[in-house]
Amino acid sequence: MPTCENYNHKRGWKQTIKKTTTLDPALTCPYCGEKQYQTQKSKTKCALLTPVILLPLLLNLFFEPGIHVLISLAVFFLLAMSLFPFLVEISNKEEYINFFDR
Ligand SMILES: [Zn+2]
Repeated sequence: MPTCENYNHKRGWKQTIKKTTTLDPALTCPYCGEKQYQTQKSKTKCALLTPVILLPLLLNLFFEPGIHVLISLAVFFLLAMSLFPFLVEISNKEEYINFFDR
């Protein structure tokens, strides 16, 4: 679970989902109001979660389409959603991928 760097405030599952699904890159701590940012490493991990959700759709190509595809899609989606907050790491500083400074 993401933890606020200032006072070690722990965020709840629901708060994490709510904050990370918005377009705003800043994740304001609900306890102290400090702005926090998701780390680049954590963003990569979350991006890797998307193909997991879409895995049942891939299975659809090999097996007969049917209700089981929809069920597995829902199961994978819930699984990914419950794992999601554990992959979110936050930092006080906003990170940028710097292509020029090498
Ligand atoms: Zn805080």
